[in-house]
Amino acid sequence: MILVTGGAGYIGSHMALKLLENNEKVVVFDNFSTGHIETIETLMKEGKDNFEFFEGDLLNLNDLNALFKGRNIEAVIHFAAFSLVEESTKNPAKYYKNNVTGSINLLDAMHKYNVNKIVFSSTAATYGEPEEIPIKETSLQNPVNPYGTSKLTVEKIMDDYDRAYGIKSVRLRYFNVAGADSKCRIGENHNPETHLIPNILKSTFNNKKTFKIFGDNYNTKDGTCVRDYINVEDLINAHLLALKYLLAGGKTDFFNLGTNEGNSVKEIFDLCTKVTNKEIPFEIAQKRAGDPAVLIADNKKAKEILGWNPEKTLYDSIKSAYMWELKQNERNKK
Ligand code: UDP
Repeated sequence: MILVTGGAGYIGSHMALKLLENNEKVVVFDNFSTGHIETIETLMKEGKDNFEFFEGDLLNLNDLNALFKGRNIEAVIHFAAFSLVEESTKNPAKYYKNNVTGSINLLDAMHKYNVNKIVFSSTAATYGEPEEIPIKETSLQNPVNPYGTSKLTVEKIMDDYDRAYGIKSVRLRYFNVAGADSKCRIGENHNPETHLIPNILKSTFNNKKTFKIFGDNYNTKDGTCVRDYINVEDLINAHLLALKYLLAGGKTDFFNLGTNEGNSVKEIFDLCTKVTNKEIPFEIAQKRAGDPAVLIADNKKAKEILGWNPEKTLYDSIKSAYMWELKQNERNKK
């Protein structure tokens, strides 16, 4: 059985669904701080007897003991965390408690119950302002906000837990994750939504909230920020490969997950108008604090060592995200 923490959230639920499609037994652990009950209902429907849900909190040791006790957990895939850069600058305690203390509690429970393999959601935010583009795994990790620091701290703790207790980890440093399940069963659903693609797409609906481009005088091709958008299903495939790698006895390691290509906010906006075939109201707004101009992954290492090969295009990501937004919009009308 595979434990997926944070499986009621955006990326964790895509992971759980993929494992279930591969006939794995899955237990999802989630406290619904940002996840959704509807997502768990979908996973129950898809996974049937192979799926189990355990409502609990990483900060509650009784919950963790009850989770691990009596379950044959082979490996853990750990998503449960808060992940908003701006919020982390205003409320660092929330980030250090949940992301760092929560992860320590999870690792301690793994050690106690002899589970020694973990795939961890890390982030490009651990690099901070990049020294080089594309960013390699060997680039300096120097986070510039508490979110990035919380994830980097967990990476370092994982090295120590490997040395001391033999817990092997694969840390996957995500760039910008985009898109939804291609069968439209699950997708991104944050409240409030802060991410670029869902925000542009939401501006196509009736309320026509004006989409804001955060800054147009960056030192980039068109003045707007450049990011590396990786499709969520491609991202999940990398997790499956990482799991396989650990189950085959692989050593602790870390990989960037991105496409090696960058797109500007304006390019994404243009592609969204093409996919939706709608005029989307927009305005240029203030820069958002802490946004680096360009973040692009060098993804060679994951390709070489894990055999990963991202296949989806940006068009695929925006299309699936739009299908999901349409479905949500219909649901909200009822
Ligand atoms: N962005 C924007 N308007 C929005 C949301 C995001 O212009 O409503 C920009 C943001 O400044 C960044 C890029 O889009 O340059 C991606 O932001 P997002 O929040 O999706 O991901 P992040 O890079 O912060 O992880």
